[in-house]
Amino acid sequence: MATLLQTHSRTKMNGNFRGSDVGQEVTVFGWVQAYRHHGGVMFIDLRDRTGFVQLRCETDRPIVHAIAMTVRPEWVIAARGTMISRGSNINSKIPTGEVEIEVHQLEILSEALTPPFEIKDGVNANEDLRLQYRYLDLRRPELNRNFALRSQITQMTRQYFTAHDFLELETPILTKSTPEGARDYLVPSRVHPGQFYALPQSPQQFKQLFMMAGMDRYMQICRCFRDEDLRADRQPEFTQLDLEMSFVSREQLWELLEGYAAQVWQQVLGVQVQLPIQRMSYQHAMDKYGCDKPDLRFDMPLFDATELLRGRTEFRPFVSAFEIRGMIKVLPIPDGSTFTRKDLDTLFPQEAAQHGAKGVAWARIGEDGSWSGTVAKSLSDELKAELAAAMKVGPGALLLWVADKPSTANAACARLRLVAGDRLGLLGKTNWAFLWVTDFPMFEYDDEEKRWVAMHHPFTSPRLDHMDKLDTDPGSVLAQAYDLVVNGIELGGGSIRIHNSEVQAKVFSLLGLSDEDIRSKFGFFVDALKYGTPPHGGIALGVDRMLMLLAGAESLRDVIAFPKTSRATCLMTESPSAVDDKQLRELGIALAKP
Ligand code: ASP
Repeated sequence: MATLLQTHSRTKMNGNFRGSDVGQEVTVFGWVQAYRHHGGVMFIDLRDRTGFVQLRCETDRPIVHAIAMTVRPEWVIAARGTMISRGSNINSKIPTGEVEIEVHQLEILSEALTPPFEIKDGVNANEDLRLQYRYLDLRRPELNRNFALRSQITQMTRQYFTAHDFLELETPILTKSTPEGARDYLVPSRVHPGQFYALPQSPQQFKQLFMMAGMDRYMQICRCFRDEDLRADRQPEFTQLDLEMSFVSREQLWELLEGYAAQVWQQVLGVQVQLPIQRMSYQHAMDKYGCDKPDLRFDMPLFDATELLRGRTEFRPFVSAFEIRGMIKVLPIPDGSTFTRKDLDTLFPQEAAQHGAKGVAWARIGEDGSWSGTVAKSLSDELKAELAAAMKVGPGALLLWVADKPSTANAACARLRLVAGDRLGLLGKTNWAFLWVTDFPMFEYDDEEKRWVAMHHPFTSPRLDHMDKLDTDPGSVLAQAYDLVVNGIELGGGSIRIHNSEVQAKVFSLLGLSDEDIRSKFGFFVDALKYGTPPHGGIALGVDRMLMLLAGAESLRDVIAFPKTSRATCLMTESPSAVDDKQLRELGIALAKP
């Protein structure tokens, strides 16, 4: 006998039936979400990625009923029947709740083992188990939805950028190292024993080469690979929206990206992004918020008390900070009444310690203007008054102080600001604070390696008015680099590039590369720059991060279909894994015996 699959095509997906379908003969396919036996009738909830519809299998159709009695969760079945109204029995919790299908043909297409966890939202199974059975995990509506969103955003992205004359182009996966600041994943060459390809940390050089090749505007939704220690918001391979444009200023590029972000936020969340997006220099962000990606859903700026305190206090932690040419940074919380002594003794110091701070001093300003707390006794009344005036705080304020080397004091205070903002309910999930951070330093000094390293990457152009400082004072050179930040998360970054081979050579040499290094690593690129390079610039946005924000997901793993764990393993395929000796021999690789 012909099966339903052969004789009929699906009427529509299960979540899309409504009252207006009543009376229709329909064919449906899906997974058994649940079944109930009720007064002789067998009810089955039939699920697919759009939702589920209820099947009604009556005893007066004995074959249908007998088959219905055998089904179990996650079996795959086909059904044909009449769409009927549930009358007064409406289930208002689900979109298909007005209707059900009175089944007159039912077929089992696949049986299923009992799944190791229930296929439903908010399942109580540990994540390792879910990752091991990821194909079952992905059936759960809350995950399923994230991937429908992912697809929607991918399509929207292509449309937006192609409508702005971008070409969608591909770049190699087996390639040469691109310095983006992480370790490379290497692939051994069989044909050239002892030689390796690197998986791209980004297609940076290729997208610039596209500009040299006259492609004018390039986009790619591409995979990048970085071998670094993983954190909640990192994966060894991730997806980037990679863009490059010729003949643009950074302002023009920002405007284009702003249009894109506004469209995505509007279409996905119905949120109107205020344009133009606020811009802030790196220096300003560091001074005011202690980090280069401040969360501007609330203000509460930090205050640098170093100069006011210099030579005017005996408070030991402050004196120690002066001895190491450090900084005394303060988080003034205008109304600190919610914070308890326990927060001051435990929570804040613990949070600050995560950024290397040895402690957090504090002071409260009482109703009468008097100060209490760990620093109170060590400051004169005059100094207290000056500090309060400078910080613009008064009675009720709580002041948290970190005295350390500047990078630690800033990072710790930035963290305290977020912790306090969160406790004060200022991190609203429906607020969106977009920000461009601009004018990053070109270089930072690596104390361990005792050399300059590029803060963005070595292809970033210095600001034109800073070119002459490359020779005299590299540390003060600002770059034409920018990051796009949303709610304290770096969504992406880019820069206007160097398009002159001499400037590029100078930057490489400042980074400590010898002529030989430059030749062997970037020879092709430096040569290409000499054949008529248009001024160009670009940016890359982290697609996974953007999705995480838009989907309200807790982790990147919720928006990556087959993610790795924090130990960079895939629990489903069990990769990485050992390979045959023969494969290793072919690659000319000998493993050291343990
Ligand atoms: N290649 C950079 C990155 O992956 C982005 C860019 O400069 O366009 O972060």
